[in-house]
Amino acid sequence: ATAETPAPLSFAESARRIRDNAAVIAGGVNSNFRMNIAPTPLVFERADGPYLFDVDGNRLIDYYLGMGPMILGHRPQGVVDAVSAAMERGILFGGQSDLETEAARLVCEFVPCAERIRFASSGSEADQAAIRLARAATGRRVVLKFEGHYHGWFDNVLWSTAPPPDAAGPADHPVPVSGSRGQLGEAAYGIEVLPWNDLALVEARLAQGDVAAVIMEATMCNAGAIRPADGYLEGVRAACSAAGTVLIFDEVITGFRLGAGGAQGHFGVTPDLATFGKAIANGFPVAAVAGRADILDLVATGGVVHGGTYNAQLLSMAATVATLRALTPDLYAGIERAGARLMEGMRARFEAAGVRAVVTGYPAIFHVAFGLDAPARNYRDLARSDKKAYVAFTTALLERGVRALERGAWFLSSTHDDAVIDATLDAVEDAARVLR
Ligand code: PLP
Repeated sequence: ATAETPAPLSFAESARRIRDNAAVIAGGVNSNFRMNIAPTPLVFERADGPYLFDVDGNRLIDYYLGMGPMILGHRPQGVVDAVSAAMERGILFGGQSDLETEAARLVCEFVPCAERIRFASSGSEADQAAIRLARAATGRRVVLKFEGHYHGWFDNVLWSTAPPPDAAGPADHPVPVSGSRGQLGEAAYGIEVLPWNDLALVEARLAQGDVAAVIMEATMCNAGAIRPADGYLEGVRAACSAAGTVLIFDEVITGFRLGAGGAQGHFGVTPDLATFGKAIANGFPVAAVAGRADILDLVATGGVVHGGTYNAQLLSMAATVATLRALTPDLYAGIERAGARLMEGMRARFEAAGVRAVVTGYPAIFHVAFGLDAPARNYRDLARSDKKAYVAFTTALLERGVRALERGAWFLSSTHDDAVIDATLDAVEDAARVLR
């Protein structure tokens, strides 16, 4: 290292603690999606704005943002104050509060499909509620999902989320591929998988008249930010309406991130049901299923069960209200500006370094893939990208003080200002050298 090139950051203390953790925590971490991170899963002391501070004394610019939730950055004062005030009143009532009413009203005001809402504690649960409601509303069994789309880790939906393409059947007729050992094969009963972004295939399947629900990320985000083809969402909407099928948008990532109205507001296509999580409460465990009153009200009048001890817990609802109130047009405009600069800056630096890369998606949530000539249209396209090179790149970035998800997604917050973006682009320029 020279004076101009600082030494790579060390993560030795994190590595040591993760090894120690493994004596009490299975695998040393509490989610499989935090494992297998190069050079080691990290242990943090604290976080502030766009920064994380780890136990090795490093300050990292954060584009994980808790895997998406921290739209206002880390520990925003408004949320901290609202939660502190709520804590003075109690924690969990096992009954209702004024805060959940206000949170529900805000969601119904912002989100086009939301006539009614039920809160939950995780996106996985909200997706389960949506699927149960759709089956109850239609009296049908089959749920169509799409390859590469993630709807939580439960048995009935953890199919074909990241399948090896050579084990996933023909591209236009994929076979459901299990995502976990211990998952019953029978759990795929009632789930069918199609490639996303191919309208004719959805239309043909729905025309058979026996599909309860189509569930999708309205713009693919979990596996990589892929836009819907022109007319695709409108076409699926029309086909669902014609077939009496419930259209569910999983907006766990896109909700309150692509704008206050989520992907449905952004694209102007309204589903029957939508699920939310992540950015709805800036890091508190809040999720929701929202949508048509006649469907949601089945929990009251139609014998559909939806429960959860922690649903609408007081502190979580205080965080929800404070977060949703902070989501002004100005805030989104700021994220748009910063994110667009970062996307453009990254493209320019990859090009200058001779690195074949595509940067796709939206300023608030974009995706970087190496080795592709054109933006991916679906999961199989994306699976052709050079993942090994990308892991080498994110590892090099981390050593230069920038933390980005190895699967390619970059999340922005309102605290990622020009100085943060400039520092990130310097690190990108430097890290891109490892790819030569
Ligand atoms: N749906 C999507 C699109 C997601 O990205 C996720 C989580 O990453 C989920 C559902 C599940 O949410 P949770 O992890 O809160 O259970």
